Amino acid sequence: MQFGSIGKSNAKVYVQSTEGIHFSDVAGEDEAKESLAEIVDYLHNPDKYTEVGASMPKGLLLVGPPGTGKTMLAKAVAGEANVPFFSISGSEFVEMFVGMGASKVRDLFKQAKEKAPCIVFIDEIDAIGKKRDGQLGGNDEREQTLNQLLTEMDGFEGNNGVIILAATNRPESLDPALTRPGRFDRRVPVELPDLKGREEILKVHAKKIKLADDVDFHTIARMASGTSGAELANIVNEAALRAVRDNRTFVTQADLEESIEVVIAGYQKKNAIMSDAEKKVVAYHEIGHALVAAMQTDSAPVQKITIIPRTSGALGYTMQVEQNDKCLLTKEELENKIATYTGGRAAEEIVFGQITTGASNDIEQATKLARAMITRYGMNEDFDMVAMETVNNQYLGGDTSLACSAETQKEIDKKVVALVKEQHEKAKQILRENRDALDRLAQYLYEKETITGDEFMHILKGGAAQ
Ligand code: ADP
Ligand code: ZN
Repeated sequence: MQFGSIGKSNAKVYVQSTEGIHFSDVAGEDEAKESLAEIVDYLHNPDKYTEVGASMPKGLLLVGPPGTGKTMLAKAVAGEANVPFFSISGSEFVEMFVGMGASKVRDLFKQAKEKAPCIVFIDEIDAIGKKRDGQLGGNDEREQTLNQLLTEMDGFEGNNGVIILAATNRPESLDPALTRPGRFDRRVPVELPDLKGREEILKVHAKKIKLADDVDFHTIARMASGTSGAELANIVNEAALRAVRDNRTFVTQADLEESIEVVIAGYQKKNAIMSDAEKKVVAYHEIGHALVAAMQTDSAPVQKITIIPRTSGALGYTMQVEQNDKCLLTKEELENKIATYTGGRAAEEIVFGQITTGASNDIEQATKLARAMITRYGMNEDFDMVAMETVNNQYLGGDTSLACSAETQKEIDKKVVALVKEQHEKAKQILRENRDALDRLAQYLYEKETITGDEFMHILKGGAAQ
């Protein structure tokens, strides 16, 4: 924004082209598209709705983790309906329009009404729409902006053709005033893609690049479990860049597989500064995890393990086999998971008799899971089906708040420790009983720096290392 323009209604600030984005560009997310298709139909055909006396919701809230295509979907609604698209981000109000938030909101709606029918998209609405907690010295500025937004929404009649879409990944932090009927009263979940969705997203983005015959998107989608649409788009582009670096004119399966690791774990560090002794520890640590997992489930627990240091700081990288879209986990399965988290450290203890800092992330994960079992999943006999904790944010890390007395907290802490300890002992027991396989697998990984799930199972079952 230019300096002199402050306070003026800069006429074109909000209008954006939607770059002709359509629903077909957004892969997966079928439920979200279905819900939004009604808006498109309304914008095409408002009479159909007014005739019956039905009015469209004024505001829809797109809710989901970052990079899942919320912005894309909003643009696609405008693209499909062929109407103007006004877009602004909540954080812009806070950072750029200091002191003028309210007037900017008024401005935005004035323009939108002139251009109706149209779509107004407010990204990161939580930046202005946070709960007003009545704190002293609260953020007046933000509150005025929010009030103005509410006033505008209440002011215009339904069926005037202005549809407001807003996106957030922290829906629980929104002021209840925003989600009241007549405001953002419809919620459209936009979740991380499942296996099929990931495959479709990869294919959409791969349309732009040249592919070798060996490319198999199903496998890539399986390997990239837990990634968002934005990350998948990034994986395809990284693969194309890798092909260029190699002076090739097409992208291979290997390019895509390496790119998953790049996007998730960072680039390979070229001149790794890991000593031989450290490399050995990392090899045993990673095999420790995998072996504990394998012995508990009797199946290949990993797609691949590499012990090449990454720019993200990770010393190794393990690509887990995807749990076949499982919705329920038993208590035993959760306990096994905890044992698997402790498996890396357990291997270090058994083989080297000393411990390293390498297990910090494992410790965090194991603790989180153990805590959840006790405080939220009702998996401790003493607490029965009583919730000790509630989840605050399901999309960003899922932090929780305690809902119990100080004495109970103490007891929870004790139970968490006991649970992790028990599984840690189990992991050590498993590794001691399979020491021979542990050594063979770790030696293989140490030498080759990479082991696939098939190789892992082959060596585990006593086959010679190739
Ligand atoms: P959000 O608004 O949810 O953070 P965006 O809509 O900005 O996410 O998505 C960022 C990028 O990720 C898009 O430009 C697109 O390249 C890619 N992307 C995300 N979800 C999808 C999807 N479902 N289909 C195709 N591409 C997607
Ligand atoms: Zn580990």
